[in-house]
Amino acid sequence: MGWLLAIVTLPLGLALGSFMTVVTARVPAGESVVRPRSRCPTCGVEIANRDNVPILGWALLRGRCRSCGSRISARYPLLELSTAVFFSGSFLVYESVWVAVAIAALLMLMPAIAAIDIEHRIIPNRVMYPSLVAFPVYLVIARLEGAPVDLVRMVAGFALFGGALFVVALVSRGMGMGDVKLASLIGLVFGSLGLRFVGVAAGAAIVFGGVGAVVALLLGRGRKAAIPFGPYLAAGAVVAGFWGAQVADWYLRTFVRV
Ligand SMILES: [Zn+2]
Repeated sequence: MGWLLAIVTLPLGLALGSFMTVVTARVPAGESVVRPRSRCPTCGVEIANRDNVPILGWALLRGRCRSCGSRISARYPLLELSTAVFFSGSFLVYESVWVAVAIAALLMLMPAIAAIDIEHRIIPNRVMYPSLVAFPVYLVIARLEGAPVDLVRMVAGFALFGGALFVVALVSRGMGMGDVKLASLIGLVFGSLGLRFVGVAAGAAIVFGGVGAVVALLLGRGRKAAIPFGPYLAAGAVVAGFWGAQVADWYLRTFVRV
């Protein structure tokens, strides 16, 4: 069942990935994500339908614009591919389709959020505010339809993860309110599955952030050049989404000995 849904949803995942490349290019600039059609960033020529096929269009043109031949960054196909894999892959992990849709919808946002945060140092409110409304509404409906989600833990996850980062944001300059909103969103979605999933998302983000800080130091870059925390939060969410149950079990068996 999971395999079938993952395969059936793959074209949708690729289309969403294509949309997310538009989001990363236009949302930080405050532009519409609906109009106009995509253009080559160098020559401004509209990208033809036949070249706008996710991943394939880029691969067949070998990463160059058809009209002017200038390079088109590999980040576009990578963003499309990761969005699609996270979206459709979620259906392999969760038996409940209600739950799989929630995790798929959350994880498909992560590559775009990470890309925008790396490039612009913001986590856009145009993505966060609608998400902070839509996900709880969806999860309440899912619960009413009998899905295995816990609304009390959803609220607890929101308050714990969001609250923890809010405190960090107050006392440190590195963390912004965008990180707080992203953590709140990740906390509420994974909280609905159980707080151990929130623990895995937070723990993975801290581990990735620590490794990233060490790498930045080794490369001789100062703290200012270190990448923002949003991508680590996003990566933590992906780990929790795909391996949350296993990581939590392993952690409890190894360190807590329950
Ligand atoms: Zn061009």
